[in-house]
Amino acid sequence: MLLLALALFLTLIGPPDSAVRPPDSKPGTHRPPHHLTKGFRNPWSDEREYGFRDFFRWRQYRKEVEHSSSFRDAAALPIVEPNWLVIHEPGDSLVVTWIGHATCLVQIGGLSILTDPIFSDRCSPVSFAGPQRVTPLPLDPARLPAIDYVLISHNHYDHLDRATVRLLGNHPTWFVPLGLKAWFARQGITNTVEMDWWDSTELRNGGEVVCVPARHFSSRTPWNRNEVLWAGWVLSSGKQRFYYAGDTGYSVHFAEIGAKVGPIDLALLPIGAYKPEWFMLPMHISPQQAVQAHLDLGVERSVGIHWGTFILADEPFEEPPRLFRASAVEAGLSEDQIIVLQHGQTLVLP
Ligand code: ZN
Ligand code: ZN
Repeated sequence: MLLLALALFLTLIGPPDSAVRPPDSKPGTHRPPHHLTKGFRNPWSDEREYGFRDFFRWRQYRKEVEHSSSFRDAAALPIVEPNWLVIHEPGDSLVVTWIGHATCLVQIGGLSILTDPIFSDRCSPVSFAGPQRVTPLPLDPARLPAIDYVLISHNHYDHLDRATVRLLGNHPTWFVPLGLKAWFARQGITNTVEMDWWDSTELRNGGEVVCVPARHFSSRTPWNRNEVLWAGWVLSSGKQRFYYAGDTGYSVHFAEIGAKVGPIDLALLPIGAYKPEWFMLPMHISPQQAVQAHLDLGVERSVGIHWGTFILADEPFEEPPRLFRASAVEAGLSEDQIIVLQHGQTLVLP
């Protein structure tokens, strides 16, 4: 069990970062800076390598945190009934229903889209161990409308769940970062479009999806770190555009995305899994940084996701939305702009 726990934590959360190698510098090659001869890397200059020493330092710290009351008292948050009337008749509205963690149903320009769907009880390679859902799934997936597209940000177990992928099957088109098509093919899913950062694809209603950078990493096992790419997505349809950030640390990419593919009406930003900061911030933004990302993106509204569902890091379970709102107030933003939803809640933007 100890070995399994170690493998799970290495895979889900972190280092060692043995695959971070210098970029390919063979003369005559014009590889994008995030590409390596084999695999990918974060191209920003402030990257630092993390190793086993950091991992064990975090585990030691975690032992202390687990004795604190906030950790022990993590209990299910209230769930609310989605607005099924709007979900089944969204019209021209931009509609977001938070299903929990990074899973959102986004309806835009007549399309229904899921982000990183996970309906399983655990985000783990096995059904009997690994982080278990604390707040229950707020809806029966069978009641969802037909899904046109699914956006996959990366292959961590809390974002890419085999059982959910198989359940949704080949009906939706799956947009996936470079290198993930083969994993889907092994699940019998062939309706996939694999994209690199800044690639774009036209949607069947004339809209467009753009694969955008994220500062993160990938791994399904301790041995395949950074072999496939990680990403965020910007999707526009009709008159509206939304951004799904995936998992990401803070960097200049938010400002670049806002400048290159904005203006964006709505951003879905991760606000959980940021403590201890020295270990988590390179790969997960804090709620304060999410507010800064909102400003960098120049986006109208942001919804904080990736919190309150699974315990993946050391912050108190209910802390992320509190800090997200407090930073918004400090930045002079309103509750209309920096939004926190309850599990299952549907947000309708005209
Ligand atoms: Zn991740
Ligand atoms: Zn995640």
